Amino acid sequence: MDATHFADRFTTTLRHLRGVDLHSASDVDLRTALAHTVRAELIDTWQTTHGNPSTTPQRHVAYLSAEYLLGTQTRNALLATELTDTAREALASLGLSLDDITSREVEPGLGNGGLGRLAACFMDSLATLEIPATGYGIRYDYGIFRQTFQDGNQHEQPDTWLAHGSPWEISHPERAVTVHLGGHVDGDNTTRRWVPERHVLAIPCDYLVPGYKSHTVNLLRLWSARATDAFDLTIFNSGDYEKAVAARTYAETISHVLYPEDSTPQGRTLRLTQQYFFAAASLHDLLTRHLKAGRSLHTLPDAVTIQLNDTHPVIAIPELMRLLLDEHGLSWDDAWHITQQTFNYTCHTLLPEALEVWPLDILGPLLPRHLEIIFAINHHFLDDLRRSGADELRVRSMSLIQEHPVRAVRMAHLATVGSRTVNGVAELHSELLRTSVLAQFASYWPDRFTNVTNGVTPRRFLALANPELASLISDTLNVGDRWLKDLDLLRGLEDHVDDPAFIAAFREVKHNNKERLARTLANRDGIELNTNAMLDVMVKRLHEYKRQSLRILHVITQYAKMKNGLIDLATVTPRTVFFGAKAAPGYRLAKETISLINAVATTLNADDEIRPYLSIAFPANYNVTLAETAIPAADLSEQISLAGKEASGTGNMKFALNGALTIGTLDGANVEIRELVGPDNFFLFGMTEPDVVQRQRDGYHPHTVYEQSADLALAIDTISSGAFSPSEPGRYESLVSDWLWNDRFMALADYEDYARCQEAVDRHYANPDQWTRSAILNVARTGFFSSDRSIRDYQTRVWQRPTK
Ligand SMILES: *Cc1c(COP(=O)(O)O)cnc(C)c1O
Repeated sequence: MDATHFADRFTTTLRHLRGVDLHSASDVDLRTALAHTVRAELIDTWQTTHGNPSTTPQRHVAYLSAEYLLGTQTRNALLATELTDTAREALASLGLSLDDITSREVEPGLGNGGLGRLAACFMDSLATLEIPATGYGIRYDYGIFRQTFQDGNQHEQPDTWLAHGSPWEISHPERAVTVHLGGHVDGDNTTRRWVPERHVLAIPCDYLVPGYKSHTVNLLRLWSARATDAFDLTIFNSGDYEKAVAARTYAETISHVLYPEDSTPQGRTLRLTQQYFFAAASLHDLLTRHLKAGRSLHTLPDAVTIQLNDTHPVIAIPELMRLLLDEHGLSWDDAWHITQQTFNYTCHTLLPEALEVWPLDILGPLLPRHLEIIFAINHHFLDDLRRSGADELRVRSMSLIQEHPVRAVRMAHLATVGSRTVNGVAELHSELLRTSVLAQFASYWPDRFTNVTNGVTPRRFLALANPELASLISDTLNVGDRWLKDLDLLRGLEDHVDDPAFIAAFREVKHNNKERLARTLANRDGIELNTNAMLDVMVKRLHEYKRQSLRILHVITQYAKMKNGLIDLATVTPRTVFFGAKAAPGYRLAKETISLINAVATTLNADDEIRPYLSIAFPANYNVTLAETAIPAADLSEQISLAGKEASGTGNMKFALNGALTIGTLDGANVEIRELVGPDNFFLFGMTEPDVVQRQRDGYHPHTVYEQSADLALAIDTISSGAFSPSEPGRYESLVSDWLWNDRFMALADYEDYARCQEAVDRHYANPDQWTRSAILNVARTGFFSSDRSIRDYQTRVWQRPTK
């Protein structure tokens, strides 16, 4: 398609779809028409893909995830279809700017953070690698909240991403699936029948997922809840109109809002309803397709493999059992064999409080038949365990049911028992799963466990986010943009690491990215960014284990020393410390940390003497769009979680690929980043995971650490003195006392080593050639972290493994 053709289609779409001409078109009209113009291209590709099924039979991959943090769609679709230049030229010929139109696109924030973003990267790689796949999830009316700051405190506003419609969505109300809830179970010991009480419709809302320069367009199918007419009818017949309308509202509440928790699930009935709602609708979809193709249910595991992204969709395991047993009349053994060979489970955590459990008094009333099936699965499993010689202690600790503090289903245990393969998301994490979190399962079924290290898509996080670096790479490697599909080719950059012209060009790209970020922040947040300082970035959800507190404590020490004349300003490496973080709305300590960072930012940034050397930028509402601007501008990437707590991290990978150096602990994928880039190009500090275990065993007393570190005490005492809260000196007392007397994630214990390591950062940065060399090596050596590689690993280690 050439630019004239594109312009023609665009104006026609504007007229036919929006009923406006160029002169009367609003922003929304333009955005919608552009999306539809590109979408039409994708649909044509999609129809060719699905008209010609692949000749090599491979399992269809069904990816089940409660979250997809997609980011904006239009620029990515243009990139995939190689229409960016065409669209730019076409719009320019109409007096319009592609960048203006796309910069106002609203991102669907249907995820909290890393887990949802991973699902989005995987969808991109599946399509790029031409693997037939469907992503299943929930079309929340309201995604992750929009964060604002008022007096430095976080406030949450509803995310109204659908306010102007979603031009990328194709919704099919006529293909709705009915999902049942509640009620009771009838029948005797041999035939059990669920008699549900309520019914809701699941409407499929499809998003096309284009592969980059591939012939595949996959579907992301998100389910939206609607009331059934039948549901209303019974109440209508009782003559209670008001109640009928209220009942509709109940049904539609199911897909209303994404729970904004990250790492701490909430045991709410609505949350479990959401999980079951999308799991049941997705299984119905998969089974219908399988049976329509004339296949037997016994061959399901050969045709489909279902990947469970964390425990959120794990209720699909008893749901598939129910369908096979109750609806299709299979024997228990056959049903179990099919189920267990179809599912695979990805575990995403090491934090005990993040392991989902569903109290029986929530699960039972909502899904009575599923609870029976879970008990039966447990019964069979524990019998096998006892036969293998396990003692009662072991049996109890591996049971799918916990007894204390409340009787509840352990979803990670259910997932492990019901899956063919269980994987962790980085080498260290998978190892810790095998040796601690799921150790007993790993010794019982050693072959079931594997690792697939996470990855990120280079299309979004290099080509779209960092176009200047992308074109420098293409020019330097001389392979066109082939490297975007074969990221190991970045290795070729090592040959240019001593080339002065390349070094200069690389540095210029970084600087231009800082200027671009500065323009964005000026418009978006009214923040003034010092583009001549080192940009030191910590962007991720706010959580104690990620230790934003460690970062801010060190900033405060530096500030206090500068103010007290303990540091000669002439020797200081100027830095801008950049934060982006949302806190879960009910997470008190996290919200206090946000408030403290903002208070310190206010003080530092108002200090004319200090500001040129040390300032803080903390824009509100960190999301994918902001990540795409901030990460390419970063010099330093802060990955400072307590060792053994961050399963993988994916932010860390985005930074390294964009030429930021990492200061980090040996945690998650940091371990692999450091191995790849080499210890000279990575700033390592802190306890290792075994150190942490030992230290906790020995008894950890943060107050003693405080007494023994003058620099740490300076930071904490500065806070306590009210330096950042003059009208309320005790404002941060709860934070301070938590650090001194609890400090669950041992920020204080790692403080001194972190401060030492930051000095090494300054020394390295003082030599620009040395720094740039390290930055280039970070890019050259981290091609491993392409999500294409993760997906290939899933293919060989999980999805294409022969069934037993
Ligand atoms: C990549 C990403 C994350 C995950 O960051 P981590 O540092 O791995 O926790 C979270 N939010 C957004 C918007 C991202 O793009």
